[in-house]
Amino acid sequence: QYSQALVHKLEEKNAELAQANQALKRSNEDLQQFAYIASHDLQTPLRNISGFVQLLQSNYAEALDAQANDWIRRTVQSAEQMHTLIRDVLAYSRVDSQALAFQPTSFREVFTDAVAQLETPIRDAGGRVICDELPTVMGDRPQLVQLLQNLIGNGLKYHGREPPHVHVSARLDGSEWIFSVRDNGIGIAPKHHERIFEIFRRLHNQQEYPGTGIGLAVCRRVVQRHGGRIWVTSEAGHGSVFYFTIPEKTVDPP
Ligand code: ADP
Repeated sequence: QYSQALVHKLEEKNAELAQANQALKRSNEDLQQFAYIASHDLQTPLRNISGFVQLLQSNYAEALDAQANDWIRRTVQSAEQMHTLIRDVLAYSRVDSQALAFQPTSFREVFTDAVAQLETPIRDAGGRVICDELPTVMGDRPQLVQLLQNLIGNGLKYHGREPPHVHVSARLDGSEWIFSVRDNGIGIAPKHHERIFEIFRRLHNQQEYPGTGIGLAVCRRVVQRHGGRIWVTSEAGHGSVFYFTIPEKTVDPP
């Protein structure tokens, strides 16, 4: 009788847990949908604001005094910044809402695509981006390109006096691939190593290094969706190495 009561209690608890899980999943989906719609719908009025202010700038620059022209210039700058912010929030919400089924994906091709997207910052910084032999994994190709693009992009952006060098490699460790993206940039003090992966977390202001603080949060979401982990080792002033893992065998995305 005692064990029957126990089984009954367990079944009840299990049902409650399943219900709570379902509710959590629903509210997560609602939140993603909200982030997507809000950021998407914000784009149109913002485009109008920048458009009209730019018209003001080009048609009335001579009629306005220096102060008015400076305010217009700052308005245009803020609108551009907000545009970047909305674009990055959209990218963040898309990790789940626009996820593709996993396919065999050559990381060598992922690397080539990511570097092609970064052609301008590489040229502007006089940078060099290289890779060793890279494996094929099961994954969502556009998301893996985004992951590598964000990490290499940061390696190029956060450079010191030297022109940036970024080196991507991978090694098999047990049942997972460990990828590394190494740079020779400004580095990150150990106390920030965990927090930089949080959304909107930045260590610099816009004047020092422009950005939105969303890139590494996107990286973490992409890696977690692929069943892996991401972390950094670095010391301020001595470059950084970002590591992430991808299981060697297929995993079912959550
Ligand atoms: P963003 O670059 O838009 O600020 P990220 O989420 O990509 O946002 O990065 C968060 C913060 O982590 C950055 O503001 C920067 O301070 C730090 N960071 C990221 N990558 C590097 C790197 N390769 N070298 C030094 N600092 C970095």
